[in-house]
Amino acid sequence: MLSVYNINVWYGAIHAIKNISFDVEDGEIVALIGANGAGKSTTLKTLSGLLRSRSGSIKFMDEDIMHMPAERIVAHGLVHVPEGRRVFAQMTVEENLDMGAYTQPKETIAENLERVYTHFPRLKERRRQVAGTLSGGEQQMLAMGRGLMANPKLLMLDEPSMGLAPIMVEQIFEIIELLHEAGTTILLVEQNAQAALSIATRGYVMETGTVTLTGTGQELLHNDDVRKAYLGG
Ligand code: ATP
Repeated sequence: MLSVYNINVWYGAIHAIKNISFDVEDGEIVALIGANGAGKSTTLKTLSGLLRSRSGSIKFMDEDIMHMPAERIVAHGLVHVPEGRRVFAQMTVEENLDMGAYTQPKETIAENLERVYTHFPRLKERRRQVAGTLSGGEQQMLAMGRGLMANPKLLMLDEPSMGLAPIMVEQIFEIIELLHEAGTTILLVEQNAQAALSIATRGYVMETGTVTLTGTGQELLHNDDVRKAYLGG
């Protein structure tokens, strides 16, 4: 479904992504894990067209998307839920969800909204509430719901559990699994390696802009180096 080959991304003089290659097959949950600054967010931003690679290729659903404008990438079904949620604080929950549907034909929007509300009943209850007054966990649900409004084939989630209370982290991971069971392929960036690898089909470990290790979620969970570096020994 997604095939990334030898990408290189720079911020001015900083070489943030160095020859990274990986792929995501239809139906997988793939986790990208690694320490702060490893390049996980930069990778997602490059896939969604917000940053550009100087080399290599990015293919999504058999199409080269490396030079495609960001809004066309979304319309193709590669949808990015950014780190830090970035909901529109002054707008209501439902207005935020509508914003997520801007690439979609009008006639599908009501159906998508119902689907989002099925996954996130809490958002339905609060659909007239101004997004800035939602709790952190609810804002994460809203950010994910807004992503779903774009009808993703592949949903990229950047640190969905960041800053959330343990109970809410659990709920968010349960929702990710439900979305996956409902047919969405997922690329998950997480600092919570334990939780991410537990639900991942496969994972990639990133260190200072490179991929250093790959395996199934279970292999990585039981790998000694991964345990020492990311799972507290
Ligand atoms: P985190 O979980 O902390 O966000 P990350 O693995 O997602 O970490 P990135 O945010 O992708 O890491 O950062 C990769 C590298 O690029 C880091 O060294 C970071 O300092 C640098 N970087 C990120 N954004 C910029 C920017 N806008 N300008 C300059 N350097 C940047």
